[in-house]
Amino acid sequence: MTEETADVVVIGGGITGAATAHALARDGVGVVLVERFGLAAMASRWTLAGVRQSGRHPAELPLALAAVARWAELGQELGAPTGYRRHGNMRLARTPEEVEVIRRLVEEQARLGLDLDFLPSTEAVREREPALAPTVLAASFCASDGSADPAPSVEAFARAAERHGARLHLGERALGVEVEGGRLQAVRTDQRRIATERAVIACGAFGNELLAPLGLAVPLREPMVTVLQTEPLPPLLGPVLGVANADMAGRQEASGRLRVTSGAGDWRGVLTTEPEPRVSPPAGSIAQVIEKLSFVLPAFRDCPVHAAWAGLLDLTPDGLPVLDRVPGTEGLFAAMGFSGHGFGIGPVTGEIMAHLVRGEPTGFDLAPFRFDRFNSAGTPEAGLTLHG
Ligand SMILES: Cc1cc2nc3c(=O)[nH]c(=O)nc-3n(C[C@H](O)[C@H](O)[C@H](O)COP(=O)(O)OP(=O)(O)OC[C@H]3O[C@@H](n4cnc5c(N)ncnc54)[C@H](O)[C@@H]3O)c2cc1C
Repeated sequence: MTEETADVVVIGGGITGAATAHALARDGVGVVLVERFGLAAMASRWTLAGVRQSGRHPAELPLALAAVARWAELGQELGAPTGYRRHGNMRLARTPEEVEVIRRLVEEQARLGLDLDFLPSTEAVREREPALAPTVLAASFCASDGSADPAPSVEAFARAAERHGARLHLGERALGVEVEGGRLQAVRTDQRRIATERAVIACGAFGNELLAPLGLAVPLREPMVTVLQTEPLPPLLGPVLGVANADMAGRQEASGRLRVTSGAGDWRGVLTTEPEPRVSPPAGSIAQVIEKLSFVLPAFRDCPVHAAWAGLLDLTPDGLPVLDRVPGTEGLFAAMGFSGHGFGIGPVTGEIMAHLVRGEPTGFDLAPFRFDRFNSAGTPEAGLTLHG
């Protein structure tokens, strides 16, 4: 067992951990990033990777607005492509009830300062997206939303962090934290002890494994989302698609592949972790994705499918993440519970966590993201605003 020291240990090499490590290393902090598998091994690879402001919870909207501004510059800053494109997000209504949901969403979000349009009819929708079916009755359209390539984006953050001096320990599992007198002393991995006064838990759905020995947990459910990816196709779809009740989403990647997802469903399967985390989607959920997509995008039914996988969400009761100090342990921080929409805001989450770790103001109201908010009685169960 080797010994090492670090100013800060970031545990988890998804978008959250990689962006946090980058923000710290860029500003001269000595960072070690510990990742159990490879970079982007879980949600940050499974994801649809929409980068959207529309449909965000009001508490998250300021982060999403800042993230959209930041994504545009990221490739240049990180010295590697992120695949970010600002190709819009269209949220579809398929029933008269959904039309009202979308109309209200547009009104509420416009009041919060977001620039988005209501497309009030099938004609208005199809004028913008001719491949959509007449089954689509209306939609919201936010031109400044878009998407990025998930794994390359995480890789770009991590490698830029490395160039700024961060050490990346990939294929290394954090087993726990050492605490003495209420202060963090070290992070223990399966390969070494890293003496440090500050650490960030950015382990997605596995975050509670490190909190449990401290007698703590973020209440998480882990629903499953099924993803299909087609072979490369000629241009078919401009914006990222979502729907009013979040039971499907999709986009066409820059490569031409369609990447489409189900809604979030209960999951009773097995998460295999060797050689990497993998959730195999039930056949029925694949059939549902095909049905739901083809209902709004009829051409989808004939598309050749290249791959299918499933992803787990780290869903909190109110659908918002925890971005906070871990109560009771000086020096320990948590960024988890992104509830199906943590990819787009990742570049800003990283900056926020870096400021928190350094004891600096973050520039955002973090009250909605407090660790201990779930302890108060009556935390409402969230409607899932979802990915896309
Ligand atoms: C199907 C699907 C679609 C989605 N669509 C969107 C979308 O369109 N837009 C959007 O914004 N968000 C979307 N999301 C959500 C988004 O992908 C996640 O919120 C985001 O990727 C979370 O990033 P993370 O870094 O916090 O967690 P993760 O990416 O899960 O990373 C956690 C990392 O920690 C590592 N780890 C775990 N335990 C340990 C340990 N003990 N030691 C060391 N390392 C450890 C894991 O291996 C993993 O690499 C979607 C999610 C899914 C599953």
